[in-house]
Amino acid sequence: MGGFKLGKMTLRSLFSKPATVQYPFEKREPYPAMRGHVVNDIDECILCGLCTRACPVQALAVNRKEGTWTINPYRCIQCGYCIRECPRDSLSMGLTPPEASAHVEAIVMHKEMDEAPAPAKGAAKAAAGERAIKAERGTGAPARPKVKLTTEQEARVAAARAAKEAKKKAEAEAAAASAGDGAAAAGDAAE
Ligand code: SF4
Ligand code: SF4
Repeated sequence: MGGFKLGKMTLRSLFSKPATVQYPFEKREPYPAMRGHVVNDIDECILCGLCTRACPVQALAVNRKEGTWTINPYRCIQCGYCIRECPRDSLSMGLTPPEASAHVEAIVMHKEMDEAPAPAKGAAKAAAGERAIKAERGTGAPARPKVKLTTEQEARVAAARAAKEAKKKAEAEAAAASAGDGAAAAGDAAE
């Protein structure tokens, strides 16, 4: 009986499409609940370091003196804690598959910060970073990455921004629809 089942399965797999794809030449569409990988919109980041404190596996590092935000994607477990803690919402989960690479290396993003970090901790430190970026923008000199991003990093940031915008739009539409339903229900009750 077992042999018959096995034979049936073997025959079926001979004539069905393989379950695997030829990555990196062929890429699957991401599943809706896929966690993806952490992407930083460095223009929004203030290098406050709160994400590094939230990370349970020390996959993140921030060096304000050198103006760098670093992630080791091979250490990251996609828990999303850093995204939850970021006071600037600059972190998100990117669903675009990363480019295949023959090297295991961390991703380093650069940012110019004029002001030295305040000797404070936690939220106070984030607030100090916020003040720094506001002051920087107030002088008409918007914060810009010191070093040009790679094409892959640009693509990740663009995809993350587009996903964030789409999410905001969907939420606004859902809120408008539910407000409309509420008004209609109130109108019905009043009649
Ligand atoms: S918590 Fe957000 S703003 Fe702060 S360093 Fe991390 S990514 Fe940048
Ligand atoms: S998703 Fe989790 S493991 Fe990955 S960098 Fe963020 S906090 Fe660290």
